[in-house]
Amino acid sequence: MTEFVTLSWSALVSHARDLLIPALIFAAIALVARGAAALRTARAAAPEVRTNLILFAFDVVAVTPLLAMALAASGALIQSAGLRLISAEQWAALPAWAIVFIALFAGDFIAYWRHRLEHTALLWPAHAIHHSDEAMTWTTGLRFHPFNRVTTALIDTTFLALLGLPLWALIANNLVRHYYGLFIHMDLPWTYGPLGRVFVSPAMHRWHHIRDADGAGANFATVFSVFDQAFGTHYVPGPCDVPLGVRDEIGRGAVGQLLWPFKVIWRYLYRHPGARAARARDPGANVTSVALGSGFDLRSPRKDGVER
Ligand SMILES: [Zn+2]
Ligand SMILES: [Zn+2]
Repeated sequence: MTEFVTLSWSALVSHARDLLIPALIFAAIALVARGAAALRTARAAAPEVRTNLILFAFDVVAVTPLLAMALAASGALIQSAGLRLISAEQWAALPAWAIVFIALFAGDFIAYWRHRLEHTALLWPAHAIHHSDEAMTWTTGLRFHPFNRVTTALIDTTFLALLGLPLWALIANNLVRHYYGLFIHMDLPWTYGPLGRVFVSPAMHRWHHIRDADGAGANFATVFSVFDQAFGTHYVPGPCDVPLGVRDEIGRGAVGQLLWPFKVIWRYLYRHPGARAARARDPGANVTSVALGSGFDLRSPRKDGVER
């Protein structure tokens, strides 16, 4: 027990240290780009930032160690079962930059579809915690429910491990995705102009987080916007300045956020009246989606009048 507490504490300290330099860089970017408005945004976002940091601390202490063990086990299983599609020798024939690019591009392709899956009824209650931040800042990129972390880590890493990518390339991919993922959550009006056709900009990801308007159900990629363009979910009409968050009434604070998926399961088990009515009208209705009061169909992301 003492050992677990010591390990958790040292993990917390090292993760906090890893965030120090990015935090300073993000603060400098915000001040240069937005001046005094950045300070006002930071002050208004303080309660949500507190929730984000508490959820992140919980993740580091209670979720990451278990995930690391699960990933090591699944990696070992893939290797011992000989499931790697490309051998270590074949990868070694490529230059390092090409391996990193493939890891990033394939990683973003997998993450695009995994993210769309997280917007379907089954996984939405956990993913909604990431979306419930109404004052999005870079710290929103640290806000994930443990269930969401499990699907993300297992799906993404398993597929990349199946490709047989070397461990260092997986680590490089994780680092880029992590820090670039934090960056695109910043409150910046940047769309990148023509470069936005290649990379995901902060404005593009902000449109992914909007609450109730055009664009909900768009922009699922993290690094390369090409996937959203290829699969018809790209929506960037300009800088995003509309309300963010979710329609679900998730409890405030970190505890309310953590409990939300359990509340949804409880409601579903006790047969939400809306779900019963939907089934009475149409026996084949997606009652999970109705009972959850949210969630999107994988085959047809919400359009709400969005032109694609
Ligand atoms: Zn999302
Ligand atoms: Zn996000």
